[in-house]
Amino acid sequence: MKLLYCSLAAVLVLPLALAGAAADFDFFFHVQQVTVDPIIVTLYPPVACIITQRVRWLVASVQWPGSYCDTRADRCCYPGNQKPAADFTIHGLWPNYADCRRGLLTPDAATRCWPDYCNATDPLNTSLIKDLESDLLRNWGTLSCRNRNATAFWSHQWRRHGTCSGMDQHAYFRAALDFKARFNLTRILADAGVAPSRNETYLLSSIEDAVTKATGSAPSVECNRNGRDEMELYQVFQCVGRDGRSPVHCPRRLESRCTDKVKFPAF
Ligand code: 5GP
Repeated sequence: MKLLYCSLAAVLVLPLALAGAAADFDFFFHVQQVTVDPIIVTLYPPVACIITQRVRWLVASVQWPGSYCDTRADRCCYPGNQKPAADFTIHGLWPNYADCRRGLLTPDAATRCWPDYCNATDPLNTSLIKDLESDLLRNWGTLSCRNRNATAFWSHQWRRHGTCSGMDQHAYFRAALDFKARFNLTRILADAGVAPSRNETYLLSSIEDAVTKATGSAPSVECNRNGRDEMELYQVFQCVGRDGRSPVHCPRRLESRCTDKVKFPAF
């Protein structure tokens, strides 16, 4: 059924392809692979379908609250003013293309390795994820002071990333929660002797190795610097298949900015 709908969308997109051909010849011949810009998606919703067909993998991204708050002390607010459990929290589940390409309106290939804002007509409807709410509050809270409303964070993640995933709203949030629960990074690191600490410094390779051993897929780790200019593990990115369930080998290296030794701060 979905294939039928997408084929129909591909036919419908033809006039747009013809219009775009003058600006970008590649678009006409590679309509299934082209990077289409958010503005076109908004103007022409069937394109979202073609984009989601091109998505090959997702990034399951979690953040370490201690590092987020060390770096953004003035902008870090604990949910409900209560220190959260010493655990990673979800940042998002981000669809990615197999490769990076120049878009029709966006000449910078680096920003077009993944799609975003694929369907402006499908905003988050919290009644569809009501049964997940307590799980989401526990595992996908916001630490941002500028926007202390967790629903607004979920809504942003859904609009920007979820609408490009090919999943419906419930499946998208369920997949992110399930993946985090299945691969409990805090426990995986603790089992490898990497425990949150204000004093210890850990080898980045020991963190990467522990996650690789436990999940079968190498993660990417993003670091930031705390107020004492020390490197801290901030986010862990794991590559997941299109189904949002199984870890896969990461087709591309993701952002790192880590040195060989990092802190994993207790909070
Ligand atoms: P992104 O657009 O990179 O997927 O998500 C980042 C956006 O979500 C930013 O606008 C940021 O202010 C907002 N946000 C809200 N709560 C959080 C949080 O707890 N962590 C991060 N990293 N971003 C958050």
